[in-house]
Amino acid sequence: MAKAITLLESTRADHRAQGDALLTELLPHTGHAFRLGISGVPGVGKSTFIEALGLHLIAQGHRVAVLAIDPSSTVSGGSILGDKTRMEHLSVHPQAYIRPSPSSGTLGGVAAKTREAMLVCEAAGHDVVIVETVGVGQSETAVAGMTDMFVLLQLPNAGDDLQAIKKGVMELADLVVINKADIDRDAATRAQAQITSALRILGQHGNPEHAHHDASHWHPQVLQLSALKGEGVDAFWQAVTRFRSLQEADGRLASRRRHQALAWMWERIESGLKQAFRQDPAVRALLPQMTNEVEQGTLAASTAARRLLDALKTNGERHA
Ligand code: GDP
Repeated sequence: MAKAITLLESTRADHRAQGDALLTELLPHTGHAFRLGISGVPGVGKSTFIEALGLHLIAQGHRVAVLAIDPSSTVSGGSILGDKTRMEHLSVHPQAYIRPSPSSGTLGGVAAKTREAMLVCEAAGHDVVIVETVGVGQSETAVAGMTDMFVLLQLPNAGDDLQAIKKGVMELADLVVINKADIDRDAATRAQAQITSALRILGQHGNPEHAHHDASHWHPQVLQLSALKGEGVDAFWQAVTRFRSLQEADGRLASRRRHQALAWMWERIESGLKQAFRQDPAVRALLPQMTNEVEQGTLAASTAARRLLDALKTNGERHA
């Protein structure tokens, strides 16, 4: 698995061709796992929770894989998710596979590798794949965009609930977990009530996926939990299971995955085009002048963009 993922992470042209061939072979063996996205600010208890959940699931006969998307590693070269010893027991368990976050590349690049690594884990027989991310930047959107269910971990104080609502992250959540409920039950209960009503409002005005009011549809839920004491982990998994069967029953799971696969294809096309654009000789020849004129205010940005795109097109046609 490690070798396969490393191959898929490589940017060498020959490795890419091998990687594509590998993915094509693996693909028929993928798709059977449940893909769970988990996010939250540093210190909220992600690794403690995933360790507790992972061991709980293994005890029930599941095989668990954990992959991380760490936007901090792309910005600073350091890593929030990778630095400390995390998931001490889970990481050495034979039924678990944990892949630390790659430490370079753009967020899109890191996410690309995670998406493909997820397929490798599924083909290797892991039936629960957890994709974890730190709640900073766009990484929550990336994780929600590649998983079947997106779970947001929160602390039992109202301050950062509002943060998540402001950033639009709450809308992505299928389930919100108030962790560290053991520290302050009252605060956790208040947070639960607050977030529940926030989700109800978001459901009415925001995401149409969540707007249905009959019982056959899933309404985002808020649970209290103590990852440290392992309290609430069982109830959490019951909620996940309920979500999964509802989504499977009405075809939402399949349609979510179809949308994700197509969105992913277009994301890759766009990033491929951008790269081709930047590497194109005609574009490169014209770019300094256009940049300069736009900066000086002697050429409209839209005109410059059009000229550069024309340069790319003409150059492409000459080659064709
Ligand atoms: P992460 O940065 O989100 O992965 O957070 P960690 O899992 O590393 O947890 C950060 C700290 O919070 C650690 O010292 C944990 O022991 C502690 N912690 C995590 N979950 C709980 C919990 O449910 N209750 C309490 N009291 N502490 C917790």
